[in-house]
Amino acid sequence: MMVNVERRKNSKGIFKQLQNLIPGGVSSPVRAFTDLPMTPIVIERGKGDLIWDSDGNQFIDYCGSWGPLILGHADARIIKAIVEQLEKGSTFGAATQVEHDLAAKIISHMPSIEKIRFVSSGTEATMSALRLARGVTGRSRLLKFDGNYHGHADPFLIKAGSGLSSKSASKGVPEGVVKESTSLPYNDLETARSFLQNNLVAAVIVEPIAGNMGLIPAQREFLEMLREETQKQNALLIFDEVITGLRLGLSGAQGALGIKPDLTCLGKIIGGGLPAAAFGGKREIMDELAPLGEVYQAGTLSGNPLAMRAGLETLTILEQEGTYERLQEKTKLLTDPIKEAIGSLKQPMCLHQIGSCFTLFFGIEKASCKTDLDGLDHEKFKHYYQFLFERGLFFPPSPYETSFISLSHSKKHLEMTRDLILEYCTRYL
Ligand SMILES: *Cc1c(COP(=O)(O)O)cnc(C)c1O
Repeated sequence: MMVNVERRKNSKGIFKQLQNLIPGGVSSPVRAFTDLPMTPIVIERGKGDLIWDSDGNQFIDYCGSWGPLILGHADARIIKAIVEQLEKGSTFGAATQVEHDLAAKIISHMPSIEKIRFVSSGTEATMSALRLARGVTGRSRLLKFDGNYHGHADPFLIKAGSGLSSKSASKGVPEGVVKESTSLPYNDLETARSFLQNNLVAAVIVEPIAGNMGLIPAQREFLEMLREETQKQNALLIFDEVITGLRLGLSGAQGALGIKPDLTCLGKIIGGGLPAAAFGGKREIMDELAPLGEVYQAGTLSGNPLAMRAGLETLTILEQEGTYERLQEKTKLLTDPIKEAIGSLKQPMCLHQIGSCFTLFFGIEKASCKTDLDGLDHEKFKHYYQFLFERGLFFPPSPYETSFISLSHSKKHLEMTRDLILEYCTRYL
């Protein structure tokens, strides 16, 4: 069924009204389709691997709300858990059993986390982890990496990924904050090592697998070096696993790599589709937080019982035998044939796939850091994106993003998608 991109009457009307009241018509910039010459998608509802826009057009969803929906939309088990909790009340601003249950589950899977604190967004998790690192070390400098995205708190908005991928910084971040943050090329081992040997930092924050400049893994030696150098100077290593946390396995990227950071940030999947995030790590570090310690951190809706229940139910489902293998199989059904097809094309292109995440890069043969993305072919991306959109496939609307497969993606839908992408390759590449 073809979607007429121009004739989405309701979507266009709603988006026009939104633009009058909300800057850019959106509550988060990437939703505005700024890289694309078309009205953004306006979504009415979702079920499983499908979404419907406000004109009734159906799409297979590969955005999954940018990562959280590992079970797909409106999963019956999650709805049941949320409704059960909702009937008991949606928020108390007080301690609950369900926070304990979710904390216990996460701690049982992630060896580097001995204590954890819940917040409501990934931004709050990274921001609080950095404050804690600064409080514990008594230092202020932060080292981060170009193209990594850690939410929108001031210290992370220098050479960041996601919606900032095409800009070097955000206005409104004070000079003093910029001075305290250093951003270096991702995967450039020697540059980062030499920096750390010459500068004391409070923390190094890194996405062990970058997901916000397209999907780009860190080299193991790069992460091992960061672990070694931070240990030498008593700085904290923070893994931002907001995407990778429960996406690549129950123990995250750190489990797969066998590297233990001092602090870990989690988000997206841990709220089961509701707003929840967390940061955690060694007991003696976490106990520096108020009320035990003097690093202040708080939140009216933190540990929200609805989000905790949804997260707990999601984790319980993910714990079932073979879940991550199934996710990977589903993903490879789609990505392996495309990899093969682009291998025989004369075009500079590459496809990265890890677990249930993937990105197709146009115009470049390799992507290991932000600079490699300078060669991205934006025109090709736009053309490809519209071709898929018109045929009922919804992907993240930017060349700098990661696509996600959920447990709800059916073989039939994955094969349809594979065939459409292969058709695009044959016709236009
Ligand atoms: C999404 C994301 C964040 C920010 O999370 P929000 O909930 O959007 O604030 C931080 N780090 C990474 C790696 C992310 O992908």
